[in-house]
Order: sequence, then structure tokens, then C-alpha cells
Amino acid sequence: MPAVLLDRDGVINEDRADYVRRWEEFRFLPRSLPALAVLARLGLRLAVVTNQSAVGRGLLAPATLNEIHRRMLAHCARNGAAIQGVFACPHAPWDGCDCRKPRPGLLLEAMAALGEPPERCVAIGDSRADLRAAAAAGIPFVLVRTGRGEETLRHPDCRARPPLFVARDLWEACQALPAHLELRAA
Ligand SMILES: [Mg+2]
Ligand SMILES: [Zn+2]
Repeated sequence: MPAVLLDRDGVINEDRADYVRRWEEFRFLPRSLPALAVLARLGLRLAVVTNQSAVGRGLLAPATLNEIHRRMLAHCARNGAAIQGVFACPHAPWDGCDCRKPRPGLLLEAMAALGEPPERCVAIGDSRADLRAAAAAGIPFVLVRTGRGEETLRHPDCRARPPLFVARDLWEACQALPAHLELRAA
């Protein structure tokens, strides 16, 4: 079955200008947990692919980030949405790493770990970096209008690399995704 590679902040949980630095600051967006459960019930495999530059900026200890993800995964699993893995870039923009989106490194790593080629994957995100990383990795992209989605939608990058479709939020994206996957398989 295909795999869905999800951005985290602004897609699954509320984005924060000052970064999510503790579990207490992690807020699931409305309907994001049931949305993930829809995908899991379809047998799709899920992975989270996220830039977490707060680590590289010295604002968040790697152990705290791991703890946030451990609790996020536990919460998702309890709600019927098993996530296979979390792939996080801990670097700051100035580190020049290959894994920070818009570079495709982290998506490529996730696909390798899941054993899926780009044509069997879909990426869901809210930012220009997500859009560009998916394009660079050759993965179809679904834009959600939560988080930075509205800003991304208005940007020329979005016309240059049109998403597979645009959804109001993760819930709408997950409702519409099966039809799009069938269309692509046909
Ligand atoms: Mg985001
Ligand atoms: Zn990185």
C-alpha cells in the first residue's frame, strides 16, 4: 500500500512562531487525529517528516524532541492512527544540511526506510518548503490550508509546482486522498 509522508507543524498540530518546545505546547489541530485514523484504516502507511530547527538553534534538547514525538505517537496510536516513523531534521538553516526541507533528503530517507518509491508516496504539507521538497523528491504533494497553507497558496511557487490538490485541513485531505490515489493508479 502507498505511504503518506506528513509534515508536522501546521498539518497535524498547531504551528507556533516560538516553536513547540515541550509536550504541553503540542496541540493537535481539530480533526487531525481522526484524519490520520482514516488513512490508517485504509492500510496506508504513515510517516512524519519535519524540520525542527529549534534543536539546531539551541532552543530544544534532542531528548525533549524525542519525548514530544514519543507522546505524539502514543496519542496517535490510541486514536487508531499508527505512525510508522518520525523523521526530523534537527539542523538550523545555516548548517546547510541535506535533510532540511526544501531539500529532499528527509523525504528520501523516509521512503528508503518504508521501502517505497516516490510514485507510491504522497506528501502532505502546509509550507513552501514542503511543496519544494516533495517536488525535488518526485512525490505528489497535497497542500493543506492550515498553518502556512494560505500563504503558500498565494506564492508563485505554488503555481510553478501545482499540488495534486488543495484541502482545507488534514481531515479534508484524508477524505479526498483515496479517490486521487485510485485515479493515479488507473
Ligand atoms: Mg509545517
Ligand atoms: Zn538537517
